[in-house]
Amino acid sequence: MIQTSARHAETDAHYKAPDVAGYGEVPHDEKVRLFEQVKGDFRFADYLFGCYECGICVAACPSAKFYDFSPRRVAQAAAREDVDLIYQQMQEDIWECSQCFSCLRCPRGNNPGGIITIMREVAVNNGLASAKEALVGYSRIIYKIMSSGTQVSPDMLRSDAFPDWGPETADVADNLDLWRRALPAETMHTTSAGWSVADKTLVELYLIWLETGALDMIAEVDRGLHSILLELMEERLEEEGIQP
Ligand code: SF4
Ligand code: SF4
Repeated sequence: MIQTSARHAETDAHYKAPDVAGYGEVPHDEKVRLFEQVKGDFRFADYLFGCYECGICVAACPSAKFYDFSPRRVAQAAAREDVDLIYQQMQEDIWECSQCFSCLRCPRGNNPGGIITIMREVAVNNGLASAKEALVGYSRIIYKIMSSGTQVSPDMLRSDAFPDWGPETADVADNLDLWRRALPAETMHTTSAGWSVADKTLVELYLIWLETGALDMIAEVDRGLHSILLELMEERLEEEGIQP
C-alpha cells in the first residue's frame, strides 16, 4: 500500500498535505508514477526485504560520512512506500551515493545502493531536473566512454578538459603521483596503458547501447550529446553493413 498524505486527502476534501518533502507542487500522481517505475524494476524485489533500522548501512557508507545522506533513509522510504520522501530523495539524496555497495553488509539482506541505482535510472529516464544537474559535468566522460568504448584514466583529468569539475581537478592533476600512492592499485591505469578497443568489440558495444535503450536514456538529460552519439554509432554500423 502506498503511504501518502494525499491518500488521506481522498477521505477529507479539506485536508491539505503537509509539504514535508519540499516538493508539494509536484502532482501526487506524478510521484506515484515514478515510484511505480522504481518498484516495477525487476531488481527491486531482490534489493529490499524491509528494514531493521539498525543503521549498519549508514556506518559502512562513505557518503554518509561526508554528506547529509543516509542509505537507511532510502531503504526506509522504499519499505514504507512514502512517495513524497522518495520523490525528494530522487531529486536530492540519491546523487550523493558513490555506488560502492558497502551497504551490502545489511543484515536484512537489503541493497540500498542497488535501490539507489534503480532510482537514478528512473530519474534519468524521466528527465528529472536532478539527473540533468548531476550529469552535466559528466558529458565529456559519457562521450568518451560511449564513442570509444574505453574509459577515462586519471591522467586525463586536467582543468582545461574538465572546467566544470572545480579546483580539485587541478589538485589531482598536479599531484597525480601522490594521489596514486594513496589510492588502490586499480587507479594506476593511464592513457598509455593501452586501452585500445578492438573494432569488433566497439561495434558490439554500439549495438548493445542502441538495442538496450542505454543511449536513449541520455536523450532525456542531454539531447545534444545524444544526437552526436547516435549519428556516430549509426554511421559506424552502416559502414559495417549493419542496420540498427
Ligand atoms: S552504495 Fe551508496 S549508499 Fe551504499 S554504502 Fe556506497 S555510497 Fe553508501
Ligand atoms: S543495514 Fe539494512 S536493516 Fe539496517 S538500517 Fe540499513 S537497510 Fe535497514
